[in-house]
Amino acid sequence: MPASIGEFELIARYFSRPVHRADLGAGDDCALLPAPPSGEQIAISTDMLVEGRHFLPGADPEALGHKALAVNLSDLAAVGATPLAFTLALALPDADPRWLEPFSCGLYALADRHAIELIGGDTTRGPRTICITVLGTVPRGQALLRSGARDGDDIWISGTVGDARLALGDRRGEWTLDSTARAAAFDRMDRPEPRIGLARALRGIAHAAIDVSDGLLADLGHVLEQSRVGAVVEIDRCPAGPALAGQPIDRRRLCQLAGGDDYELLFTAPPRQRDAVQAAADACGVPVTRIGRIDAGPGLRLMDDDGRVADNVYPGFDHFRAD
Ligand code: ADP
Ligand code: MG
Repeated sequence: MPASIGEFELIARYFSRPVHRADLGAGDDCALLPAPPSGEQIAISTDMLVEGRHFLPGADPEALGHKALAVNLSDLAAVGATPLAFTLALALPDADPRWLEPFSCGLYALADRHAIELIGGDTTRGPRTICITVLGTVPRGQALLRSGARDGDDIWISGTVGDARLALGDRRGEWTLDSTARAAAFDRMDRPEPRIGLARALRGIAHAAIDVSDGLLADLGHVLEQSRVGAVVEIDRCPAGPALAGQPIDRRRLCQLAGGDDYELLFTAPPRQRDAVQAAADACGVPVTRIGRIDAGPGLRLMDDDGRVADNVYPGFDHFRAD
C-alpha cells in the first residue's frame, strides 16, 4: 500500500493548481478575488456529499470528483450564473494517493471545462465528506429565481429525466436492469452534466428556474410555492433516455417524477418566447421539452396522455424523512 502523505503535502499535490482569474489561490489564510465588474452580482452556493448518504463506500473517486463539483455547478446553472471560483472542504479517513489522485483529476477536469478555479478549502481527518462552495457572477437583476414563474408560462425541462433514479432502483434491488440500461443509467447518476450554458442563454428569456436534484415534481413544487402559482404537468411528455424508455410505465413515471439526481434544468418561460427558448437550446446542443403550463392554481395537477387526471404519488427526496 502506498504511504499516506501529510496534510500540507496533500493540499500542495492535489489541490493547489495555479489560478489565473483569482488574485490569490490556496496557500494563505484567505483567497482573494477581484471585485466583480459593476452591474454584476456574486452568486454563492454550497453542496455537501457524505459517504453512506450520497455515495457508497468504494465509489469511484474520479466520478466523485466530477459529481461533487457538478452538483454545485448545477446550482449556479439554476440561477443562470457564470462560474468563477470554488472552495473544497474535505474530510478523509486517510490521505491515500490512490483515492486523492483520481478524485483530484475528476474534479479539475470538470472545473477546467467550465473555467472555474479552485481557490482554497479545508482538509481534516474524518468520515469521508466532500463539501464544495461555488461562486459565480450574474448581471444584476437577471438571476433566474424560483420565485419568477407567472400564470400562463410554459414549463420546460432540459435533457432527459429519470435515469439516475433508475440506477438507484437497480442498486437497491427494486428492479434489475440489463447491462446496457444499467451502464447508461449509472453513467447518468455518477456523471451529471450541469446545464451552465443553457441557463446562461436563457437569461432574459426564462422567468424562473431550478435544477432537479430532489425530484421533478418536488422541485417544481418549490417554484410553485415561491412564485405563488399552480401548474398542470403532462406527465407522459417528460423526456426519457433510451434506458428508461424501455421500462414499464409505472416505473418510468416513478423515476421521472419522483427521481432526483439528474441535475437537469427545469424552467418556465412565456409562450411568446418558445422560439427563443428553442434557439437557446439549439445553440447549446441541449434538447428541451415542454412538459406543462403554469396557471393560477390550485397547486400542482398531473395529466396523462389520455387527458386523465393522475394522482401525485411522487414525493421528492427529504434527508430527514427518507432513508
Ligand atoms: P488555516 O489553518 O489557516 O485555515 P489550512 O491549514 O486549513 O489553513 O489551509 C492552508 C491553505 O490550504 C489555505 O489556503 C486553504 O485554503 C488551503 N486548503 C486547505 N485544504 C484545501 C483543499 N481541500 N483544497 C484546496 N485548498 C485547500
Ligand atoms: Mg483551515
